[in-house]
Amino acid sequence: MRMPDTDSLRGKRYLRLHQRGRKSAANAEARVLHDLEVELDGFVPLDAGFPPSRDEALRRIAGLDTRSYRRLRDYVRGPVARVSPYITHGFVSVPEVFGAVVARGGSGPTDRFVQELAWREFFRHVWRHLGDGILSDIRDPLPGVDYGNSVPSDILTATTGVPVIDASVRELYDTGYLHNHQRMWLASYIVHLRKVHWRVGADWMYSHLLDGDLPSNHLSWQWIASTFSRRPYLFNAENVQRFATHLSSRGTCD
Ligand SMILES: Cc1cc2nc3c(=O)[nH]c(=O)nc-3n(C[C@H](O)[C@H](O)[C@H](O)COP(=O)(O)OP(=O)(O)OC[C@H]3O[C@@H](n4cnc5c(N)ncnc54)[C@H](O)[C@@H]3O)c2cc1C
Repeated sequence: MRMPDTDSLRGKRYLRLHQRGRKSAANAEARVLHDLEVELDGFVPLDAGFPPSRDEALRRIAGLDTRSYRRLRDYVRGPVARVSPYITHGFVSVPEVFGAVVARGGSGPTDRFVQELAWREFFRHVWRHLGDGILSDIRDPLPGVDYGNSVPSDILTATTGVPVIDASVRELYDTGYLHNHQRMWLASYIVHLRKVHWRVGADWMYSHLLDGDLPSNHLSWQWIASTFSRRPYLFNAENVQRFATHLSSRGTCD
């Protein structure tokens, strides 16, 4: 009888353990995603809309659970406040939202929700300093890229074939609102994959948003394009699978 050499035995054992490990990691991931889906189903209905009243804005702020927000804010179906249109149109001010959340306790300057409000204030601050300068590249764009000057029609008509992009464009048209992650993915896709200048994408998105705010919008697009940051923002299928399982491409192509 020929004895197998130790290296090949070790290799087979490693392979078995590795496969078992991958299987249990995949099972664990599926369990986490399932639990998350159940938890996320309990949050804001997707068709909640934005009834135009101050009472509605105050109700949303009063209903915010800052602990869940911290943990689940990045999930597209997560418990975000959906108050941006009310802030943009002056139903409530940022200091008022901040005050209401702090008064309920459990929230301070290091709180994730407060930090997000601070981003809005920061962008406004930059706008006050640069004025119309926020409408053009603040830093040099990526070298060697010839950016287009119009949004391609398959994006405008939500027919790119990329599920997360088409679903987000449709949602933008239908509701005038997108979760922050969807805005980031859409902007990144338009600028880095389709090579369209960020300004064109920013103007288009801004014109459809109920919360359209020039500094938050245009400086976020510049941040993604890397003309207001050191690095371009890129995303991949795993990002979408993790934060928006229902919009993921998994299974739609090989
Ligand atoms: C490409 C792009 C475009 C954007 N355009 C706009 C815009 O036109 N108007 C606008 O108000 N926000 C904009 N944002 C920021 C952010 O996406 C929205 O403020 C947020 O999604 C609004 O939903 P919410 O009220 O549920 O937010 P929550 O997560 O509940 O946050 C509460 C509040 O904090 C502020 N805030 C949260 N995240 C951000 C952020 N990343 N930057 C600035 N402020 C933030 C908003 O006032 C928001 O209402 C943009 C982000 C990106 C990536």
